[in-house]
Amino acid sequence: MAAHASSMRWMASSSSSSSLSSVAPAIPAKTTQSSDALLVPPTDFPFPFQPYSIQRQLMQALYTAIENRRFGIFESPTGTGKSMSIICGALTWLRDHEARQVRLGGSLIAAAQGRDQPVQPAGSVAPGVPSGASDAFRDNAEPDWVLDFAAKKAGENHERRIREEQELLLKQTERLAQVKRKLSQSKASVKRLAAGSEKPVSIPTAATGAAADSDGDEMDTLSDGEADLILSDYSPDKEQSDASDSDSDSEAGSGKFDARRKKKASAVRDDEDEEVPDVAKIYYCSRTHSQLNQFVQEVRKSPFGETTKVVVLGSRKNLCVNDDVRKLEAVERINERCDDLRKNASKSKEAKGAHHDGCACCPYLTNDSVSTLRDSILVHTTDIEELVNRGKKMGACAYYASRRAIRAAHLVALPYQMLLHHSTREALGINLSNQVVIVDEAHNVMETLNDIYSVTITLAVIRAAQSQLEQYAEKYNTRLSLSNLRFVNQLLFVMRAMQRSVTGLPSTERAPGASAHLSSKSSASGAADEHSAVFTINDFARINNFDNINLFHLQNFCEQSEIAKKLHGFAERFCAPATLASSASMASEEGETTVLTTSTGREPVFQRNVSALQYVLRFLMSLANNDSDGRVIVTACRPPTSAEDASAVDARKSTLRFVMLNPGVHFRDVVGSARAVILAGGTMQPTDAFANQLLAPPSHPDLLVPVASAMFSCGHIIPVENLQAVALAFGPTGEVKFDFSFRFRHDTRVMDELGRALCDIVAWVPEGVVCFFQSYDYMAKVLDRWRQTEVLQQVQLKKRVFQEPRVAGNVDSVLREYSECIRAGNGAILFCVVGGKLSEGINFSDGLGRCVVMVGLPFANMYSTELNEKMRYLNEQAKVRALASSKTNKLPPSFDETAAGEEFYLNLCMRAVNQSIGE
Ligand code: SF4
Repeated sequence: MAAHASSMRWMASSSSSSSLSSVAPAIPAKTTQSSDALLVPPTDFPFPFQPYSIQRQLMQALYTAIENRRFGIFESPTGTGKSMSIICGALTWLRDHEARQVRLGGSLIAAAQGRDQPVQPAGSVAPGVPSGASDAFRDNAEPDWVLDFAAKKAGENHERRIREEQELLLKQTERLAQVKRKLSQSKASVKRLAAGSEKPVSIPTAATGAAADSDGDEMDTLSDGEADLILSDYSPDKEQSDASDSDSDSEAGSGKFDARRKKKASAVRDDEDEEVPDVAKIYYCSRTHSQLNQFVQEVRKSPFGETTKVVVLGSRKNLCVNDDVRKLEAVERINERCDDLRKNASKSKEAKGAHHDGCACCPYLTNDSVSTLRDSILVHTTDIEELVNRGKKMGACAYYASRRAIRAAHLVALPYQMLLHHSTREALGINLSNQVVIVDEAHNVMETLNDIYSVTITLAVIRAAQSQLEQYAEKYNTRLSLSNLRFVNQLLFVMRAMQRSVTGLPSTERAPGASAHLSSKSSASGAADEHSAVFTINDFARINNFDNINLFHLQNFCEQSEIAKKLHGFAERFCAPATLASSASMASEEGETTVLTTSTGREPVFQRNVSALQYVLRFLMSLANNDSDGRVIVTACRPPTSAEDASAVDARKSTLRFVMLNPGVHFRDVVGSARAVILAGGTMQPTDAFANQLLAPPSHPDLLVPVASAMFSCGHIIPVENLQAVALAFGPTGEVKFDFSFRFRHDTRVMDELGRALCDIVAWVPEGVVCFFQSYDYMAKVLDRWRQTEVLQQVQLKKRVFQEPRVAGNVDSVLREYSECIRAGNGAILFCVVGGKLSEGINFSDGLGRCVVMVGLPFANMYSTELNEKMRYLNEQAKVRALASSKTNKLPPSFDETAAGEEFYLNLCMRAVNQSIGE
């Protein structure tokens, strides 16, 4: 690898040239916890080989940003050794930080031992006590002796805490050393550990139910397992008091749900191992598990591989080792089943004092086995697959073992949806307070945040949920309490209103109460008409007459009664298959990453076997967001033959979508509590967007996170003279214009001319050529045409042809064959898609990518309602920002009211292009 840096800049937080700095005030958000001087980055970092200068500069910049508690944007293209530099820079800081903590603890203990309890002189504090502590006491108008006593007490408490933490750390180090010794003695020791596991017991399905405490007389007439389908009594009284407490907690729309989340999270934390010290750590996030696995391999290769405690987190779907549960496939069902088994285990424990054979609990969730697996994770770095295999061998749950390893780990690697989604973070017991967060491949972090908090449901799903609930209510009418019946009826009322909002959408006029203009269009094939209207959250509830229903109570009822799960069990057992409609998937622990492909018409993903009501509830929950932060888009899709009949809509294509517009509102939790947040990526330009949308949403001045910022950027490592960029407006004949806009790109003359150009390119470019199309469909269409016209055969005379597979599992084999072909001296061409599986995170180094061809520019669909709403929102925000910074309280004459939205539209496209050609 040549060590050339085409450009590099490192801006301290106070740089006024950075809009990042100007938006985010250059003041540290939090005072440092230690009176020690700031750490200075070393000139020599531990690194597996002599680092190039750009790698050393990246490590120094990263070290400084973390030490100075910065929000940083780090840009370093693929092939520059970014991952290794991040690992070594961040872990060197962590090593030095821990050493500082130990020094601090040592001096405190020494001070305590050598001290004969002197009264601290006024204004002084014990060594290591936060430097502001004494001043805080002194600000009160109290006598000196009271202040001195309070300062001394604070010092003693601080000292005790540090001592306790160090004792825990010592104990844990000894225990892990033992585990390491045992594990390294022989593989047989692992088998011995596994030998103690309990024999798996057969697990009843949700529909048949576990051995339940069905002791009520009424239940006698119910058939086998049916008792479990009945809702347990729910009383809103307690929730009311919770609600009033939490309402006062927060003005924000979602505040009322925070208390419930906290309660849930603390319940999860109860079963965690408090004996394990919670050490300073780095949370490293990337988009996919395969990227995380690559990262783990890099950690192993680094000088920190042996000494760093690393844990990789995944969902239950990835980590569950119980085959009976894994086979449920849908993540929601796996979660539900696992929760059931855990509840059974708690009940069994209460009744018998321990697990016992015959209990319908998970046999892989015994304390000993999970603790042993946790310790083995901490002494040997494992990736996801190894973790599951080890869990199976040891008869221990890999999901809970990895969760329990978080407290003691130095490095936690997880998909970034798990970290960015508030509830998932809390459910995992992740506390970001004072920790370091590094988000890799962060170029799409804003779109991912928007996607995580956006929800789409189809009319078919709402209808299925309603039909199931009506049948359920009818069958068990006499068995439900009055309170439960009231909530069931409310739920039915809201679902009917949601359906009316779609079927009643006028096709020719402005929808009553719609916040934005109604849009109408024909589909590409002209087969159906689509009409959309946009509403604010409050307007949507008001117009559909459910604004008087307390959604907070309704959601509490649904959660506590587990109605979604019970209804699904009921539907599987008693409902006609037609009502078991597919359901649109939403943000979950899996959190499938998507960029704003919804702007280009992405259809919701469908999953079988998932409760339809679950999705309806997710949509309802999204309405708890702040009114200004999102929109509801109602889309009715009518078959053209029934265009005049308002009720004739295509239920599978007509949707309700909650669109999150303000990613900053959720990102502030992360920035607000972490010590430092670093967004890293190959191409992060334009960086202003991160500042404007993530740090300082102008509509929420109260939410502004006062952090200092840092920016590091290094260019590609190849010399400028080795690179040539060419824009082709015409093909070789000079007669056909290269216009790949929607109108012209299907023109066969354009495709043929493109084929001629490609034949020329493959004739004079050696080794590998990578060619990007705007979509899978367009790629397939062009390749079909080239097959017919024998262009592909001509290309094949020079290069072997490869094509990006749609199935993720086949990507590795295609890449391997492509690389082998080039290394064997035969040229190859790889056709792939912008935003697809090969457009990021893959290093087409040297001969693998001698030429990159970009066919047209991947602009999003201009007519997308969601995209237009996002652009409108950004224009409004820019206006608010301009007004706020204007001294006259008027917009400057040069202010362009549509510039922010247009810039976003352009950036969306250019970022996708940068990502593809920059990798
Ligand atoms: S406890 Fe672990 S192994 Fe058992 S069902 Fe849950 S995730 Fe699967």
